[in-house]
Amino acid sequence: MIKSNEELWQSVLAQIQFSISRANFATWFKNTKISSREKGEVVISVENSFSKEWIDNKYSSLILKIIRELDKDTKNVKFLVGQEKRVFIKTQTSSKKDVEENKEDVNQLPFQELSVNQKTNLNPHYNFDNFIVGKFNEMSHAVSWAISENPGTAYNPLFLYGDVGLGKTHLLQATGNKIDTLFPEKKVRYIPCERFVSGIVSAIRDHSIAEFKKNLRESDVLIIDDVQFFAGKEKSQEEFFHIFNIFYQSQKQIILSSDRPPKAIPAIEGRLMSRFEGGMISDIGTPDLETRLAILKEKCVEKNVNLKTNVLEYIATNIRSNIREMEGALNRLIFFEKFNNKSPDVETAKKLLSNLINIPRKRTDFKKIIKTISEFYNLKERDLFSKTRKKEIVRPRQVAMYILREDLNESFPSIGRKFDGKDHTTIIYAYNKIVKEIKENDNVLSEINLIRQKLYSELK
Ligand code: ADP
Ligand code: MG
Repeated sequence: MIKSNEELWQSVLAQIQFSISRANFATWFKNTKISSREKGEVVISVENSFSKEWIDNKYSSLILKIIRELDKDTKNVKFLVGQEKRVFIKTQTSSKKDVEENKEDVNQLPFQELSVNQKTNLNPHYNFDNFIVGKFNEMSHAVSWAISENPGTAYNPLFLYGDVGLGKTHLLQATGNKIDTLFPEKKVRYIPCERFVSGIVSAIRDHSIAEFKKNLRESDVLIIDDVQFFAGKEKSQEEFFHIFNIFYQSQKQIILSSDRPPKAIPAIEGRLMSRFEGGMISDIGTPDLETRLAILKEKCVEKNVNLKTNVLEYIATNIRSNIREMEGALNRLIFFEKFNNKSPDVETAKKLLSNLINIPRKRTDFKKIIKTISEFYNLKERDLFSKTRKKEIVRPRQVAMYILREDLNESFPSIGRKFDGKDHTTIIYAYNKIVKEIKENDNVLSEINLIRQKLYSELK
């Protein structure tokens, strides 16, 4: 028998947690509670109006179902915004002119892809109109959209992660571009993390670090792409930490992307990691067949070509995990078409793409696992085999042992021999430790999955 509202909600949350991803759960159900329960109606208070709409659309039937299992008298659920931060919404009409002007600019440029806005460092080619939304990126898209309409107040910071070639940069830039259009008075800066790091390095060399920071501080929206590059770059992390705090405190929007969740970035300072984890974390998965096809069709429209549907299907069926590779395949066919003045059929496509697609995937092996793991954790391969007990190395080593056991079915003693003659009980301990972590923590599961994606997705 459920007694209080709080007890009921806790049981509901416990069940929802099993049905949706951890990132989604943390995002949408943070700070929710049952605010009243009367005459069969349960009112749930949520964080803000954006969450309200989202939860209502996506989760209301799931929530009702779970509540009804616990409390038969419930007939419906309603959502209400708890304490919302005041948000200023700028009307679109005021900036319509800017949009028109921008459009014209873009159309005049012969090389759209190469045209980068000097002020923002954004490429206007990346926008929301040419970004296809499917289940795999739905939430990241929605959150980015919300941010672009209320920068600094909707969700701050946003940490977007997903494997390479799945649209992080596109989404980040689309968000930046839209903010730039809707809020012309706001200074948007897009910086790939590698460039941030090299900027710091040369600023140190030229004694111009203060200027470098001042320059950044003057922006209103800071977008840093691929922050996994901060791994091991202590000075850059330190400087970024300060900039981050300034932005955060003055409610200026920060948007970050990475190829993995914050916890899986190696050699990153704890305080920076907790900043990354302190805002909205959203992931991009892999698109399903239908979405892959939709993306290809969109690219054809953009590139003004008309490839046969069965040819597009051939690409979409055979390249699954990377949109950039799909686009590469498409470009090859477009080149063929332009060059030969005829549209390739499936047979021709097969030939043209044979070195991208047809090569049978090699089974993975010891060498590949070790290489992938050391790259993933940013370590030297030999570190994995060293005697060191440093945490940054022990953990990846354990992960390596786990994957060797799971994916190659290697015996514990044989794995032990490969790791400096370690006793098989050490390997069993490591294996069980990772098994336990996976069970208890979804982040560890996504970490292992990311490694596996890297291990198996290469078309070599
Ligand atoms: P990432 O930064 O995650 O490595 P990118 O943003 O560079 O990936 O995307 C790779 C390519 O795929 C880009 O050309 C991008 O325009 C395209 N792309 C990715 N996601 C989408 C999408 N949802 N709709 C349309 N194009 C996409
Ligand atoms: Mg990118």
